[in-house]
Amino acid sequence: LEQQQGVFKNIQAQTEDGKRLEIAANIALPIEAKAAFNNGAESIGLFRTEMLYMDRQTAPDEDELYNIYCQAIEAAHGKAIIIRTMDIGGDKPVEYLNIPHENNPFLGYRAVRIYKEFFELFKSQLRSILRASAHGSLKIMIPMISSMEEILWVKELLSQVKHELRENKIPFDEKIPFGIMLEVPSIAFIIDQCCEEIDFFSIGSNDLTQYLIAVDRDNEKVANHYNSLNPAFLRTLDHIVREVHRHGKWVGLCGELGAKGSVLPLLVGLGLDEISMSAPNIPATKARLAKLDSKECRLLLNKAMACRTALEVEHLLAQFRMVQH
Ligand code: PEP
Ligand code: MG
Repeated sequence: LEQQQGVFKNIQAQTEDGKRLEIAANIALPIEAKAAFNNGAESIGLFRTEMLYMDRQTAPDEDELYNIYCQAIEAAHGKAIIIRTMDIGGDKPVEYLNIPHENNPFLGYRAVRIYKEFFELFKSQLRSILRASAHGSLKIMIPMISSMEEILWVKELLSQVKHELRENKIPFDEKIPFGIMLEVPSIAFIIDQCCEEIDFFSIGSNDLTQYLIAVDRDNEKVANHYNSLNPAFLRTLDHIVREVHRHGKWVGLCGELGAKGSVLPLLVGLGLDEISMSAPNIPATKARLAKLDSKECRLLLNKAMACRTALEVEHLLAQFRMVQH
């Protein structure tokens, strides 16, 4: 099997019937980029930047961040990298920010919600990403967006930072794509409006499952409720992908769900543009993808969405696997 996967590592990811589905990697540090591309990643679909801010005494400055992004760009050889701005606060505490402890951190002060208070910190991250964009193919993605107000606020700041760079004759990619994580359910109902303001979405299935089903993703007591095969969740994903494509935009998925081999037929059925996952899963995913028929996957998804329980969906997937082999 390993030998088989090795063959798939360096080919373009597609289904048996030739439907393209980009397979990308999630990384948290620049040194992981090289290994990701060696594993056959077609791009970096999620560069989680919070690690760059954690386990240290002070925040990294603009030049340090710029150098880090440039390292990733060097490993990418022209392939795209989606940099997600810091998703800190809440359950990912950063001591020097002195954010008070919260009883309900997942519903609290995290990610884009802290950017107004830590304005200079966020601004320096945007500046560093823009400066690095002069050297490669970068995209900016904002985590935990839950309203249009947040999108407009970030866009306003981004254009201000771009203006400052132009004034100072500092080069950057004028066309750098701007996107958001789709991980808070409220966004699923304003996709038409979002598409007027942004270039792309990436579905954060970890948080989207948690927020849609109202179940803490880290709480063992309710782990049985945390199930991305819940038909309500699958219907939500289908609605999202249809809406985004109806408005001519691009949508990937970067949560853990993307690496689950048994679920891949459903993700193919959705018609996603990209799936981003931890790098070691990439060769096996490409190999599995090459055996799937996109039309069969769509029919399977329709059946799954008609199921009444997650268990029924699981049985459906098991049956599908048996027929495949
Ligand atoms: C997600 O929520 O699915 C996601 C990819 O982001 P994180 O796991 O970093 O919250
Ligand atoms: Mg998330």
